[in-house]
Amino acid sequence: MINSAILLVCPHCGIELRKENKNLRCPSCTDKWVIEKNVPWFSKSSPYWGEIDQASMQRVNCLAREEGWEAALHEVAPQLRNYATSPARTNWTGLLPIQSDWTAVDIGAGWGGNAFPLSQRLKQVVALESVFERAEFMEIRRQQNATQNMQVVAASVHAMPLPRERFNLVVMNGVLEWVALSAEGDPEHIQEEVLKRVHDLLAVDGWLYLGIENRFSYEAFLGQRDDSGRRFASLMPRKVADLYMHLTSATHNRTHDAMTAYRTYTYSYWGYKRLLERCGFRDFQAWGTYSYNRPNLLYNLKDTHEFKQYLQTRSPHSAGKKLARALAMKNVSPTALRLFSPMFCIIARK
Ligand SMILES: [Zn+2]
Repeated sequence: MINSAILLVCPHCGIELRKENKNLRCPSCTDKWVIEKNVPWFSKSSPYWGEIDQASMQRVNCLAREEGWEAALHEVAPQLRNYATSPARTNWTGLLPIQSDWTAVDIGAGWGGNAFPLSQRLKQVVALESVFERAEFMEIRRQQNATQNMQVVAASVHAMPLPRERFNLVVMNGVLEWVALSAEGDPEHIQEEVLKRVHDLLAVDGWLYLGIENRFSYEAFLGQRDDSGRRFASLMPRKVADLYMHLTSATHNRTHDAMTAYRTYTYSYWGYKRLLERCGFRDFQAWGTYSYNRPNLLYNLKDTHEFKQYLQTRSPHSAGKKLARALAMKNVSPTALRLFSPMFCIIARK
């Protein structure tokens, strides 16, 4: 039922929750949350978000119960099979001194692409996901895989029912850039608040792993759409990007809703370093990658030789990428690597 090795606490009071029938109740503020389909559900007000629309996601879950989660994924969303199951998703773990007695939380765990491989190497894993249908999918997958050391929790990053100073690793893969969509106020301030809470979840010397886009990725300069769904938005001053979003309102492929303000803030290498240090993290280290969702190869941002080797393994399809590769092969400095890398795999510790 509920994994007793993972303590769930009241998101307001921080006090251990008590289980009463199909609910979890806080003994202090008496708030309660339902356990729905075996998933403690703290995020009833969170909007749907996902790579496929809500009706398709519900169909995945329905089929998963009947035919198994892999068959359901293959039938409804075959394009996401790699994303949900590829072992390469967790290549970034090579950056960390992973220990088998660690407890980790994957924030924004999605389909479980990171959480399941981690559960095979760590003692306990919490897969935290605000969208119920996605949490439901992971719980079906967990049950069908007989994964005992994982707790799936449906909860928002803004109100996590997790105890302080218990986690050796917090994973935020493709999450931080989205957190200001589900809260009001200045996006950078909201990101800082989330990172401070993450810092608080970590045990002494615990690690944060952050997979995220580079604001000044060379691909952004070549016109690749960023998380706002627009070209060039990340490169603009924030207020200009905001106006641009207002003027070009369109349905977004992840929120399935119109996005009319620029809130998906990303940063430069130096911007992430400063942001994490402001939130209490130390030992900032970043690697470059083309995709944090499949970090097949990570390259050291200090080593241009490694980067050139990396480029040789890739065959760019567009003319822009061919040009960028040709330029990079000729002359690339470590500063340019940091400035223009498409994405970063970042680690920092408490
Ligand atoms: Zn409470």
